[in-house]
Amino acid sequence: MQRLALFDLDNTLINLDEAFQTWAGEFADQYGLGCEAVDWLIALDRAGYPHREVFFGRVRDHFTLPDPVEELWSQYRGRMPHLVRCRPEVMDGLSRLRTSGWKVAIVTNGTANNQLGKIQRTGLTEAVDAYALSGVEGIRKPDTGLFEIAARRCGVDLADGGWMVGDHLVADIGGGQAAGLRTVWIDRGMWPGHEHDADHVVTDVLQAMEILQAER
Ligand SMILES: [Mg+2]
Repeated sequence: MQRLALFDLDNTLINLDEAFQTWAGEFADQYGLGCEAVDWLIALDRAGYPHREVFFGRVRDHFTLPDPVEELWSQYRGRMPHLVRCRPEVMDGLSRLRTSGWKVAIVTNGTANNQLGKIQRTGLTEAVDAYALSGVEGIRKPDTGLFEIAARRCGVDLADGGWMVGDHLVADIGGGQAAGLRTVWIDRGMWPGHEHDADHVVTDVLQAMEILQAER
């Protein structure tokens, strides 16, 4: 199988949850919501409101905020790229894969400015061969098309196989398998009791990189 490694971004290469927690603290301060608001925001995030337009609709109603949803969401998109981090050991892991002959790309769902901002500010643009963002391409994981774009930008053909690494069972693992890729699922405890048939299950992207390095 060709050495193509596709990685999800949020909570795979970068720790979005940590950044979200920081953002929630800042947001509660900004609107004078008190510290219980931080827990409420985090609980809502974990309860599965990934689409931010829906999320901010709920937030605005709950706290009876004066600003429109679009304004709240827009502030969030502008701020998050400044709060996310990619750990140095993850950057090193990407570098080692590329040195070993792997082509490495990011395949991520989300709005263009937010995802691109995160990739740029963390330095990931230079750490990978390519990236494919749903907000730019108009196509989302688990659709095979987004994986195809990433592979093509790495100069390889998706039909020759490779690997997908991510934390979302449908978008990353289901999508990767439908695209003919082998998969490593990062289990963060968010999918209790869900069936899956990922090739490997890990709890951290560094373990996924070790698995790839051991491939021949
Ligand atoms: Mg993710």
